[in-house]
Amino acid sequence: MTNQYQDIDFGTVHITVNPRAHRFIMRPMVGGLRVTVPGYYMVSLGEVKAVVDKHRVALLRNWQKVNARPAMSEDDIKRLRHFAKQYLPIRVAELAQEYNFQYTSLKIQSSRTRWGSCSGTNAINLSLFLMKVPEHLIDYVILHELCHTVHHDHSPRFWALMDEVTQGKAKEMRKQLKEYTTG
Ligand SMILES: [Zn+2]
Repeated sequence: MTNQYQDIDFGTVHITVNPRAHRFIMRPMVGGLRVTVPGYYMVSLGEVKAVVDKHRVALLRNWQKVNARPAMSEDDIKRLRHFAKQYLPIRVAELAQEYNFQYTSLKIQSSRTRWGSCSGTNAINLSLFLMKVPEHLIDYVILHELCHTVHHDHSPRFWALMDEVTQGKAKEMRKQLKEYTTG
């Protein structure tokens, strides 16, 4: 399958296959759209286009937000990184202590494709662009990665643990976070 195509509204649609994804994930970006396709079966370009069409109206709303903003300058990103390096290590340590999680290391990266990740060895990565979302959603992402130190998947057990540490608001906050992009 070709890994990109042109869309009349979004511009270049970049398609990546992720064996760990369990559903289609669509992220608006400047001048385009990134579509992550679950790796468990072969999808055709037609199927990708059909999924984009199905979500077109909602995606356009977010795409317009991303594309209306002037791109962040190198200086803006430098400031954000500085702020992230001051804030995130302390907050991760606080939340880990409060809920009794163990992680091996924390890295702050400039990932635009995801807010955070947790490796099999419980090394946590967070995107510096997290500093652009409200504090309670920063906590949500941190808690999400900390819960992965216990459950390395998105199983019902994982979400039950997420609900425990977010007073039952995990799914609601996941929805809120979708309103934000790393752009
Ligand atoms: Zn996760």
